[in-house]
Amino acid sequence: MPVRRLSETTINQIAAGEVIERPASVVKELVENSLDAGAREILVALTGGGRDAIDVVDDGCGMSGEDLVLAIERHATSKLNGDDLVHINSLGFRGEALPAIGSVARLSITSRMRGGEGVGICVEGGIVGELHRAASNQGTRVEIRDLFWKTPARLKFLKRERVESMAAFDVVRRLALAYPEVGFSMSCDQLKPQRWPAGDNESELGERVCAVLGREFADHSVPVSYERDGLKLNGFAGLATYNRSNRLMQYVVVNGRPVRGRSLAGAISGAYRDFIPRGRFPAVALFISLPAHELDVNVHPAKTEVRFRDERLVCAAIVSGLRKALSGAEFRVVDGSSALSHFALSSALPVHRDVSEFSNKFHGQSFEGGVGGPASNLPSSSDEGGQAMFDSSVGETNRWLPAAPPPSHMNDALQHPLGAARAQLHDTYIVTETDRGIIVVDQHAAHERLVYERMKAGRINSIVETQGLLVPAIVDLDPISRERLIGAAKMLSSVGLEVEAFGEAVMVRSVPALLIKADISALLRDVADELAYHKGVEGIEVQINQVLAKMACHGSVRAGRALKPEEMNALLREMEITPGAGQCNHGRPTYISLSLDDLEKLFERR
Ligand code: ADP
Ligand code: MG
Repeated sequence: MPVRRLSETTINQIAAGEVIERPASVVKELVENSLDAGAREILVALTGGGRDAIDVVDDGCGMSGEDLVLAIERHATSKLNGDDLVHINSLGFRGEALPAIGSVARLSITSRMRGGEGVGICVEGGIVGELHRAASNQGTRVEIRDLFWKTPARLKFLKRERVESMAAFDVVRRLALAYPEVGFSMSCDQLKPQRWPAGDNESELGERVCAVLGREFADHSVPVSYERDGLKLNGFAGLATYNRSNRLMQYVVVNGRPVRGRSLAGAISGAYRDFIPRGRFPAVALFISLPAHELDVNVHPAKTEVRFRDERLVCAAIVSGLRKALSGAEFRVVDGSSALSHFALSSALPVHRDVSEFSNKFHGQSFEGGVGGPASNLPSSSDEGGQAMFDSSVGETNRWLPAAPPPSHMNDALQHPLGAARAQLHDTYIVTETDRGIIVVDQHAAHERLVYERMKAGRINSIVETQGLLVPAIVDLDPISRERLIGAAKMLSSVGLEVEAFGEAVMVRSVPALLIKADISALLRDVADELAYHKGVEGIEVQINQVLAKMACHGSVRAGRALKPEEMNALLREMEITPGAGQCNHGRPTYISLSLDDLEKLFERR
């Protein structure tokens, strides 16, 4: 066939293939246009999952007749300053959305500028109608009908109506989060309509986050605030215990633009790595602002990805910002609402009060101070006496020996964030009294975390204490596990576990001192499984930490073991100076707390 130029309509349809993938992409382009037009109120309505109709109405600056005619032409935009692709302050800039939509759907736009006349134009499958007068409020109304009627192949790729509606909802949700000062209304025939009223000013961010991500997220998150080298990071970090099964609850806005991207997702996961079990994901709402020249927004037709000039800087800021926020949350009540509702349910007297109403307060309570540095940098204070405290090799009963003499005056202990141990119940829970209430600690979960942090710190500071076995242990394993362990022998020896091949079995010469009491064959099996899971998936550092976490489980005091008061108090004091002690290695809380206030309310004393 001879070479020939494509028709304008075909060109637009090809462009539409990139920009307009599904109803949600139309919604995204139109709402972005409304935001760029300075709208204060935006209304979005979908029928048939957006396939039958999509309407977007705004009260923005509107367009004149001339603008309108140009707007539906390809590569026409009002948003670029000359050829400057660097300083882009609008969401759009490519000038292709409207013509692309017009080429694959029936598009009708009516618009009026302030003090101007209402005008309208229609495009159907690329054919442009006459510009005409039309009654219109100030602003713009865009109506799309029969999306993809011109490109039936695309229609086939659409999912069920409900799924398409949910994707469109997600788009609006992300944009609503980025623009708290704008009011949004969203309705789809299959889903509950939403309205996010305009906030008064930008300090309404918290309100909007709460409205968009839900009260639950707000109750289970801590504020993030971080600044470095011209980069500002704000927002909210979900507590590790509030983890999710996918990344849908991760919202990142960069310079007012909701974005996604592997590196951002990786940085978020990295910040939570030690706190969240594999296959689970944290919930976050992060707002990053940085100078325009640090950012290239022109890398993706739908503009959902951006490229950073210095990606490492951005990722490092995310990790540091989140870690900082989370470390402040360590001595906060984790997962309190469920704890509280269980409490309320099981209490003999019915609790009539709306538990959720006051669980907010319950959550807001946090201890000040007592929080160690970042996990990789365990403060030396915990190394001083701690080793003796938790050295399982000391003594017959695997007991904790307090490093310092117990407080002479019990009242002193009440002042500690985790209070003074008063009782051990069911050989599993330590109940403590603080000057503000009571705390219940899960001894196994807590100790597991301490052992893990201790082993990690030991490795980082190259002071791994190993304990040679008097008689090397010979462990029979299946051949695959055996290979895995032998293959990782070098790495394992760096954390104190020395293994070597012994015929068909594995010989263990030494183990980390903290694990001397562990069941060695169970330990080896678990470590082998851990190695299998992480093989080649992530870096060695991650693998080592996962192995340590697994080992910690074997080295920690089990539920069901009776503890002496000084052992309990030693555990509490150690928790107070250990980073991440608020959650076990699987992201579950290690303790819950009830203030006197909470108790009084539960008993309806006020
Ligand atoms: P881009 O947004 O990349 O400029 P579009 O095809 O989405 O390209 O829109 C083309 C132009 O139409 C915009 O630059 C803008 O001037 C105008 N326009 C589109 N939607 C609106 C709206 N809701 N209000 C005012 N002007 C609009
Ligand atoms: Mg646009």
